[in-house]
Amino acid sequence: MLELYLNRPEELILRDAPAPGTVKENQARIRVTHGGICGSDLRVYKGSIPYATYPLRPGHEVLGVVVEAGNEVRHKVGTRVVVEPNTFCGECDYCRRGRTNICEQKTPIGVSADGAFAQELLVEGKYLVSVPDEIPDELAILIEPLSVTVHALKKAAISPGTSVAVLGCGTEGLFSIALALFKGARVTAVDVNPRKFDVAKQLGDVRVLHPGEIGDELFDVVVEAAGVRSSIEQSMRIVRPGGEIVAIGITGEPVEYPVMKIVRSEVTIHGSIIYTLEDWADAIGYLQDPRFNIRPILSKIMPLTEYQQAFADALSGDYAKIVLRF
Ligand SMILES: [Zn+2]
Ligand SMILES: [Zn+2]
Repeated sequence: MLELYLNRPEELILRDAPAPGTVKENQARIRVTHGGICGSDLRVYKGSIPYATYPLRPGHEVLGVVVEAGNEVRHKVGTRVVVEPNTFCGECDYCRRGRTNICEQKTPIGVSADGAFAQELLVEGKYLVSVPDEIPDELAILIEPLSVTVHALKKAAISPGTSVAVLGCGTEGLFSIALALFKGARVTAVDVNPRKFDVAKQLGDVRVLHPGEIGDELFDVVVEAAGVRSSIEQSMRIVRPGGEIVAIGITGEPVEYPVMKIVRSEVTIHGSIIYTLEDWADAIGYLQDPRFNIRPILSKIMPLTEYQQAFADALSGDYAKIVLRF
């Protein structure tokens, strides 16, 4: 089988490797059909995640078909599936409360363990989610990154008429825009790069602004999806008293925390990390509704052999989601 492999940062190869061995009772063999390139794959590629280990197979957004299943796996051969790429133990205090996304044993694949960019994978049945027939491949491959924003946007009160600012129009920002629009919010998309607005505007009636154009305006909900200091600090300036910030962007930089405003104006800041399987089910529910529009977020599907170009395009910042066809 073929797999993508990083010998070290920036040294990405496509190589032939032995297919994974025997399927255990609780595992299924997946023939991967599509893999989405994520921002974290790009950071692993560039070597900018300190806890990433090399050599490493990148990738965690995959769609495939079950080709062999152990006895304990309820997904039958031939089922189209997506893979939950973060392990959870199911037994710790957090898992028992249904918060598998903050499990003590969580290991994200493709960063500190081999990832999913291979033509065949062995995956435990508990990490498989079957895809309904009416969701086409090009939308099914978006279920994982969409679930991140499904989880995040549940944290804040968003209903028809809520004013929502989304800071950062990368893929998570774009999914947040689509979901906030679907919930009936009035959405303002903010980015330093005006080229990012092309896709944002295709998602629906979205106002677009450069961060410098916001002025004194205040928003009920601010989704911080840029993950840079200036944007995180702006999120706290532009949230209205009693409002909510949903923080999904991450930076290692120190950030100024306006304690006076947060306390005196009763601002709530929600951190949000990945998802639980409940969010995946909800993401699939959204995708089954024809009014839910995220198709513009898929920029290109490229053959696996064009992986160099696909990574270069993804790194350019000129596209939204780029997907490899395995
Ligand atoms: Zn991802
Ligand atoms: Zn756990």
